[in-house]
Amino acid sequence: AAKASGKRTWRRFQPQQRIRVVERHALQARLDHAISKEQFGLRYQPVVDIAAGRVVGFEALARWPELGPDPVPPGQFIPLAEETGHISTLGAWVLRRSTADIARLQRRTPHLDPPPYLSVNVSTRQWRDRNFLDEVCAALDATGLAAGTLQLELTESVLMQRTDQIDAQIQALKDRGVRIAVDDFGTGFSSLRYLRDFPIDVLKIDKSFIDGIPHDPQQVALVEGIVHLAETLDLQVIAEGIEEQPQRDLLADIGCRYGQGFLFARPMTVEQGEAVLRERNGHGRTDR
Ligand code: C2E
Ligand code: MG
Ligand code: MG
Ligand code: MG
Repeated sequence: AAKASGKRTWRRFQPQQRIRVVERHALQARLDHAISKEQFGLRYQPVVDIAAGRVVGFEALARWPELGPDPVPPGQFIPLAEETGHISTLGAWVLRRSTADIARLQRRTPHLDPPPYLSVNVSTRQWRDRNFLDEVCAALDATGLAAGTLQLELTESVLMQRTDQIDAQIQALKDRGVRIAVDDFGTGFSSLRYLRDFPIDVLKIDKSFIDGIPHDPQQVALVEGIVHLAETLDLQVIAEGIEEQPQRDLLADIGCRYGQGFLFARPMTVEQGEAVLRERNGHGRTDR
């Protein structure tokens, strides 16, 4: 009887499901094609020193298609590319293109000391990829970007699915001077032990925590807790998704040094990024 009713349920939902499957396949096929033809764009969102207002770095964010009226959000196409395994190809392109863009930006702004850094999102699947380390090193060598100005972002799921191979890759990257950031911190289930044992440099507090401040006392306490935790573990903190001035003020009070968000700047082209750098960090040696 269970089987029969299961069948009936299936039949009832089938037409709708088929449409979804067809759409999904069509999107996946378009995405595969775009990946093979490198039809993507990158935008760069400034990371700012909250109190000083200066830009300290840029996070590379993938866009598809680069131009046009119907962009597919990365929250949609990145998981699709992860399923097909093509994220490795896309991720390698993101690395090559973003290191080239930011290396050029640094050469065009030699008066900035330290130079603005590049932060790149790396999916769990990429971290498991044996070629990943070589790809990072190749991108650094090809573009001349100093390893110390590259930051790679991982999510808590990588901390929880560590393998010897992932650990070895991360150690090799650290030895080269690359920094490691935990993205969307607070949304996963990583334990304090992982944070202590893993060679992390930066925590990025997820936007969902920032949304609740300064009005929700519980969220304020959580953000404060994360900032103090980071201090204890000697990690930098970046608050994600700052949209309002009161959020900025509270974060500055709490001692959260860095932030990203529409309040400061949206993701932009590298040319716009250069203009923002010149405007906010000055032309001369004012940033010293
Ligand atoms: P993420 O790494 O946490 O990036 C931050 C996201 O928040 C970006 O969305 C950014 O545009 C958005 N954001 C920044 N400030 C604000 C704000 O003040 N308000 C609001 N509402 N949003 C803000 P985006 O570009 O749509 O990217 C979404 C996610 O897709 C990223 O989240 C990241 O997980 C993933 N992603 C993007 N590019 C790449 C990539 O090249 N590789 C990989 N593996 N993942 C990527
Ligand atoms: Mg990120
Ligand atoms: Mg993030
Ligand atoms: Mg996030």
